[in-house]
Amino acid sequence: MNWFERASAVIPGGVHSPVRAFKAVGGDPPFIASGSGARVTTADGRELIDFIASWGALIHGHAHPAVVEAITEAAARGTSFGIPTTAEVELAEMITDMVPSVDVVRLVNSGTEATASAIRLARAATGRAGIIKFAGCYHGHADPFLVQAGSGLATFGTPSSPGVPAGTAADTRVADYNDLASVQAHLEDSDVAAVIVEPVAGNMGCIPPAAGFLTGLRELCDQFDAVLIFDEVMTGFRVGPQSAQGRYGVTPDLTTLGKVIAGGTPGAAYGGREDLMRMIAPDGPVYQAGTLSGNPLVTAAGLATLRWLKANDDLYDRFEDAGRLIEHRLGNALEAAGLPGIVQAVGGMVGVFLGVDRATTWSDVADLDPNLFNRFFHGALRRGVLLPPSPFEAWFLMESHLDSTLDIALTALEESIAEAAS
Ligand SMILES: *Cc1c(COP(=O)(O)O)cnc(C)c1O
Repeated sequence: MNWFERASAVIPGGVHSPVRAFKAVGGDPPFIASGSGARVTTADGRELIDFIASWGALIHGHAHPAVVEAITEAAARGTSFGIPTTAEVELAEMITDMVPSVDVVRLVNSGTEATASAIRLARAATGRAGIIKFAGCYHGHADPFLVQAGSGLATFGTPSSPGVPAGTAADTRVADYNDLASVQAHLEDSDVAAVIVEPVAGNMGCIPPAAGFLTGLRELCDQFDAVLIFDEVMTGFRVGPQSAQGRYGVTPDLTTLGKVIAGGTPGAAYGGREDLMRMIAPDGPVYQAGTLSGNPLVTAAGLATLRWLKANDDLYDRFEDAGRLIEHRLGNALEAAGLPGIVQAVGGMVGVFLGVDRATTWSDVADLDPNLFNRFFHGALRRGVLLPPSPFEAWFLMESHLDSTLDIALTALEESIAEAAS
C-alpha cells in the first residue's frame, strides 16, 4: 500500500482537512517529508515550489531558522503547563501593539475557535442572535458559519452541512461581498448581533474589498448597533504590518487572527475593543477556555515570526511588487493563450481565476471552469510548482519566494497556462 492508501484506510478521505485530498483536481496528494524556504520535498523525493504555504500560515518560508530555534528552545523548557507563561504576555502585547482595533486579546488554538468565540461575544454584547456573513467567505467550521445563501434576501440561511441544526443556520444571513445594499437589507430585516467579513476575501480566490465597502460596513454596523468583526485569520500580518484594518483604515469592533500569528503552529486569537473583551471570563460572564491555549510552542513560534516581521517590514512592499509582477506575467500568458481570466494580488495573497472576466463577489467566480483549472494545476505540478488544489483557493507568497524562485515558478506557470488552453 502507498501512503495515501494507508491514510485512506484510517482517516476520512485520507486527510485531516478536506481540501488536502485533491478531490477538486483529481489524483492523489503528495505526502511531504520536509520543507525549506519556498520548497517542500515529498516522501518520494520530489522538490516542489510551494504556494500553499500552509494555507497562508507561513510568511517567511518553511523551517525558518528563527522559528525553528525558538520552538526548539521552548520545547526544552516544557511543552505545556496550563498555567501562565511570560511568552503569552509578550505575544499579546505584540498583537495589541500592532493591530489597531485590538486593545485586549485572548489566545486560542485555531481560527475556527477564534471566530466561534467572537460570535458568542457579539451575541452576548448585543443580546441578539442573528449574524451576517458573505457568500464565499470562510470563517472556519463552527456551526453558525456552515451556511449558504437561500434564494432571495429575506430567505433564512440553510445549512450547507448535515449536522448543523436548522435553528442555528436560520440565525445566519448571507450577504454578497462588495454589495452594501445586501447587508443593509438583512440589517433592516432582522436583529443582527454581528457582521463578520474577510476584509480581503481569501477563501474564494483573492478578492479585494471595493472602494468604500469596508467603510460602508463600519457605518452600517454603527447605524444598526451591530458588532463589526474582521476575520483576519488569513489577512492578519499578511497584507500589511497592521493587517487589513491598518491597510484600509477601517477599525472593526472585534478581530480574529490565526495562521501567521502562530508561525506555522496551531495557534490563533481574537481581540478588540476593551469594553467588549472585558466581557470574557473571568473578567466577565462570557465563557471561553482552552487547555492548550497560549501553548509555549505556539507563543515561541508566533513571537519569533512577528519579531522577524517587525525587523523586516519592507517585506510588505516586496509582496506588492511581486503581486504586480504575477498579475502582469500571468495576465499576459492568459491573453496570449486566448483565455479569459483574472489575476489579482493583495499583499502576499494571489487570486488566479481562469475562464472568468471579473472577480468581485462570489457569483462572479462560483461557476468558473474546474476542468481548465485541473489541467493548469497538474501542468504546474509536473513542472515542480505546487498550487492549492482548488480553483477557489488563494495562493500565498512567502519571503523565500522573492528571489529567483519566483521567476522559475512564473515561467512554469506561463507554460502551464499555454498547455491548459491548447
Ligand atoms: C483559515 C481560516 C479560518 C479557519 O482557521 P482554522 O485555523 O483552519 O480553524 C477562519 N477564517 C479565515 C478567514 C481563514 O482563512
